[in-house]
Amino acid sequence: MDTLQHAPPVATAPVTPTAPPRISLAEVARQTGAMLGRGNSKQFNAGCPPTMADLTESLFFSPGDGRIWLNDQRMLLMHSSAMGHLRRELIDTLGIARARGLLTRAGYVAGARDAQLVRERWPQGDPAGVFMAGTRLHALEGVVKVTPLRFDFDIDQGRYEGEFLWEHSSEDDEHIAAYGIGTKAACWSQVGYATGYVTSLFGQLVIFRELECRAMGGQACPGGGPPRPRPGAM
Ligand SMILES: [Zn+2]
Repeated sequence: MDTLQHAPPVATAPVTPTAPPRISLAEVARQTGAMLGRGNSKQFNAGCPPTMADLTESLFFSPGDGRIWLNDQRMLLMHSSAMGHLRRELIDTLGIARARGLLTRAGYVAGARDAQLVRERWPQGDPAGVFMAGTRLHALEGVVKVTPLRFDFDIDQGRYEGEFLWEHSSEDDEHIAAYGIGTKAACWSQVGYATGYVTSLFGQLVIFRELECRAMGGQACPGGGPPRPRPGAM
């Protein structure tokens, strides 16, 4: 288990309680996409920054003033069961389609914010490493373990393909606890996060899907981004 940073009291905690400079995600994507170029899983060097250790060092607990920071972004340490409760209430009150849309978009925002964080903190990062940082952040945040099976992208050519294996999804834990095993993929905010992260780096919409899901009876949740969705999933 990684050792997390415990920030000293307020005075030396990371300082950005006020709003950081605002920039649209489209602008971030335009600026960063031009620099990232291309990359693939074969070129990926696990030692290139940001490593998991680098990302972990961006996490600060500041219990003295009631804040947790991931670099300059305020974070929350929440009970997975509370998110499960919220999820059930959303499904019960709004219906499954609207609940899915809402949670997918919330996940998208989280992924986009993390992509922005990585580009701002590691502006010279290796392209493959920058894309991979999203998988590490998602794990660091306790949401899911993400293993890249293969990815290849060329931003100039508008091409992205990636295959990943999501394991230990907290969203699946809560969905299965509430509804049992069903016939549909359930990791909505998880794929929303991946979509938001990659889209923000890539500069155009890259929609991720689960091809199978633990909520459908599988052992894990394989999936990814274009180009080959299978019928019946998500
Ligand atoms: Zn799943």
